[in-house]
Amino acid sequence: MSTAPRTNLLDLDRAGLEAFFTAQGEKTFRATQVMKWIYGQGVEEFAAMSNISKALQARLEELAVIDLPEVASDNLSDDGSRKWLFRLGDGNCIETVYIPEAERGTLCVSSQVGCMLNCGFCSTAQQGFNRNLSTGEIIAQLWMATRLLGQQPGGDRLISNVVMMGMGEPLLNYDNVISAMRIMLDDFGYGLSKRRITLSTAGVVPAIRQLREDCDVSLAVSLHAPNDSLRNELVPLNRKYPIRDLLDTCKAYVGEGRRRVTFEYVMLAGVNDSDQHARELVQCLEGVPAKVNLIPFNPFPQTRYLRSSNNRIHRFFEILNSAGIVTITRKTRGDDIDAACGQLAGKFQDRTRRRVRSQTANQVTPV
Ligand code: SAH
Repeated sequence: MSTAPRTNLLDLDRAGLEAFFTAQGEKTFRATQVMKWIYGQGVEEFAAMSNISKALQARLEELAVIDLPEVASDNLSDDGSRKWLFRLGDGNCIETVYIPEAERGTLCVSSQVGCMLNCGFCSTAQQGFNRNLSTGEIIAQLWMATRLLGQQPGGDRLISNVVMMGMGEPLLNYDNVISAMRIMLDDFGYGLSKRRITLSTAGVVPAIRQLREDCDVSLAVSLHAPNDSLRNELVPLNRKYPIRDLLDTCKAYVGEGRRRVTFEYVMLAGVNDSDQHARELVQCLEGVPAKVNLIPFNPFPQTRYLRSSNNRIHRFFEILNSAGIVTITRKTRGDDIDAACGQLAGKFQDRTRRRVRSQTANQVTPV
């Protein structure tokens, strides 16, 4: 048996798989054949791929793996949303959330372990940055959720939408996120349309431009403030890519068509939620094909921010709405299981660390 590390087939989009099979002296159609098994049928064993010869199955066993994470925890919220903590091969944990609604089922997918952007109102920022996820670790979140939700091959689709809004900044893990989204879009992968995949970014301007060329899925931008001085504070990345550049890039992203960019705006009491902020936001978005998503702040331990009152959110909404901006207030889902927006923080790992810390403390505490 070869000692070279085996290729995780989940790391390869269709073009990657074709190259893999070609290098093995196989025909390129093997790529779609294997994708149908993995993504269409949810098969994880080469031996179950019955239209592949025994000889090729044996070769795949030697050269390749289908590497999936372990389920570290599985929590169901009272409102039906479900949060999984997946343990990766190196012990790191990431979170994935499923949000069922009447007309659709949305999976919120992570792109990094931790995050380096340091937005003060986001709990993922508290854990710092650990590493990028591989393509396989990103797409495996869909594979696992599909399996754990009990999706039947060919049955009604339980996951109709994907949002790249979990832990991490997807545009700072560009190549792996693009390959994973290509698998989501591929008819032999998950067959989702571009409209049904939304990538949320804090505003990595050059990467937004590149995204338009490579894989122009729906775009959401975490704006959170209507001027640079406040946004510099809330989203430190703004110091590198200020609001005007960001909004010009957003305009170019959607072009002349009917598409709009979704702007996320977290409602922080006394920080960014005044009438004046709302009016400034209206001005700021003038000429940008925009939708605004107001997100009531989801608190987490040790945060210094508070959620705006419902009245305040309503008033802010009214100002945007009467200025003709399509605005929605996002319902908070999965509160009771810490699955709400911005609460994903690899809790499991934290707990492990705490345990280690308290053991150490016990050793030095006299009894
Ligand atoms: N890094 C990407 C995607 C991850 S965050 C981005 O910045 O867009 C997904 C969304 O949740 C972002 O709009 C983010 O600003 C928001 N968010 C983060 N923490 C939050 C919190 N505590 N309450 C409400 N929304 C939060």
